[in-house]
Amino acid sequence: MSEYGIKENIEAVEEQIRAACDKSGREPKEVRLIAVSKTKPVAMLQEAYDCGCRDFGENKVQELIEKYELLPKDIRWHMIGHLQRNKVKYIVDKVYMIHSVDSLRLAEEISKEAVKKNVKVQILIEVNVAKEDTKFGTTCEEVIPLVKEIAKLPNILVKGLMTIAPYVADEEENRCNFQKLKKISVDIMEENIDNICMEVLSMGMTGDYRTAVTEGATYVRVGTGIFGVRPTMLKGEEV
Ligand SMILES: *Cc1c(COP(=O)(O)O)cnc(C)c1O
Repeated sequence: MSEYGIKENIEAVEEQIRAACDKSGREPKEVRLIAVSKTKPVAMLQEAYDCGCRDFGENKVQELIEKYELLPKDIRWHMIGHLQRNKVKYIVDKVYMIHSVDSLRLAEEISKEAVKKNVKVQILIEVNVAKEDTKFGTTCEEVIPLVKEIAKLPNILVKGLMTIAPYVADEEENRCNFQKLKKISVDIMEENIDNICMEVLSMGMTGDYRTAVTEGATYVRVGTGIFGVRPTMLKGEEV
């Protein structure tokens, strides 16, 4: 047993991903596991790294930067949380991808800072497919016009879509939400917009990543299933 049991957890998640791929005729290599390490200490991330993990997800700018400084430089950092415009400048040259872009104003800020630092930033458009009031994300109706505007901005690469599905007791309940996100990505591809690619579908968390994989997820974001429960979850406060 590794110190935190992370190796065993990762192996179990990878086994579930393989099983979901088998079920839906997909190849496991099409699905990338992002270890969502928010609130967890660097020692736990190091253990996941030692097991081969190179993709980590964080939802706070400050925490991402601190961990970035302390951990190996071949890690791909995914910003998955709501991003304030005034904090964009701290991360544009550190992150591999920003999953949570849901407005033109945020995209403009990312573009502006990316130009200044002479980097290209990969982003995903966050879509609130289930129309939950409590969640960020653009609506299904707004996403195509938004993508068209973002496509004109320099130093931004739109790689696909992301969604955070509702918390449900049975992950089957989220199947329709994953199907909706997939459908939107197909609709966007058919628009043939310059500079837009739809190769990434970031969907599925600990409670529903198996279903997400059967519906076409290319990134799954798993926190609890790898690192255990977070203190904030015990207080009933989520993401
Ligand atoms: C916290 C978080 C996750 C991981 O959640 P788990 O249920 O612990 O797997 C995934 N995506 C986002 C955007 C998050 O904030």
